[in-house]
Amino acid sequence: MTETEYKIYIDTVVRRVEFARLQVSDHHIVKTIAVSKYSTSQEIEKLYNIGQRAFGENKVQDLKTKSQELEDLPIEWHFIGNLQKNKINNLLDINPSLFHALDSIELAQELQKKLQARDMKLDCLVQINSAREDSKHGFMPETALKAYEQIQKECPNINLKGVMSIGAHTDDKALIKKSFETTHDIYKQLDSATICSMGMSGDFELAITCGSNMVRLGSVMFNK
Ligand SMILES: *Cc1c(COP(=O)(O)O)cnc(C)c1O
Repeated sequence: MTETEYKIYIDTVVRRVEFARLQVSDHHIVKTIAVSKYSTSQEIEKLYNIGQRAFGENKVQDLKTKSQELEDLPIEWHFIGNLQKNKINNLLDINPSLFHALDSIELAQELQKKLQARDMKLDCLVQINSAREDSKHGFMPETALKAYEQIQKECPNINLKGVMSIGAHTDDKALIKKSFETTHDIYKQLDSATICSMGMSGDFELAITCGSNMVRLGSVMFNK
């Protein structure tokens, strides 16, 4: 694809996001994070050149490599993957703009210790396992509110900004919708939360109409 063709293609993706958000409200703004985990630094640069600024990776090592290779560009890096405790320091070295997948109290406590030692803060989202899938990380919906409040209270170096979910892994649209609604319900109960991160290439329009204001798009943004 030439740059012009890619631009036209991305316009169609942007329009899909627009169409979905306008079904919620003129004032419902949605931010797109381009998930680059299957893409090279060169491909990221191509997308950057047509206007995309926020990118997300799900492995600390990949985030490190690509953010270093592209350090001359003012990219906003997101870490969207699950974080092992032994990788916390590596992640903090990179200091991403937002960590989407805070998925346990133990991880929050460990993260708090390391943040405090460095006298730094990190914006985070609490991951909710809204479809109750064994294969997924995150708090169960009924424990999420309490966990959110506990982290807020006990971890002053963690700036909680909201919630994140991955839609139910099924072809049944009603079930996917229900999983998004579950997360959005919790989001609405959090006074200070401003980010509801849900929706991927296969389900972002549905996620947006369920109230998502941050979508994480991999294959559709890189046309894969
Ligand atoms: C890979 C990934 C995405 C993007 O997936 P696509 O289906 O390629 O859009 C979004 N969120 C998370 C947590 C991911 O790991």
